[in-house]
Amino acid sequence: MNGNQQFLMQQLLWIGVGLAISVSVSMVMPFPYSLGIMIPIFLAMGYFVRRQTLKKTGALQPSVLGSGSSVQFYCANCGAKHNQRSCPRCGSTSTRIS
Ligand SMILES: [Zn+2]
Repeated sequence: MNGNQQFLMQQLLWIGVGLAISVSVSMVMPFPYSLGIMIPIFLAMGYFVRRQTLKKTGALQPSVLGSGSSVQFYCANCGAKHNQRSCPRCGSTSTRIS
C-alpha cells in the first residue's frame, strides 16, 4: 500500500466515523435536534480532512521547491560553486552536483 492509498483510506475512515456518529445521534435524538448536532460534526470533519490534506501537500512542497533553481553545482575543474551550465570562473562545463 503506497502513501496515497493510505491517505485515501484515512479520509474514508473519517467519513465512516462521521456517518457512524450521525446515525447513532439520529437514533437517540429526535429529528430537529439530531440535525443540530450532525451539522457541526460534519463541519468539524470537513475541517479536519482539509487540514490533513494541507499537511500532506505542505509536506510535499519543500521537495518540489528543492528541485528548482536552488540546485548548486561545483565546477569539476576549479571547484567554484555556481548554478549555471558552465563555470563563471574558468568556463568549464563539467560540473558535479553538491
Ligand atoms: Zn571552474
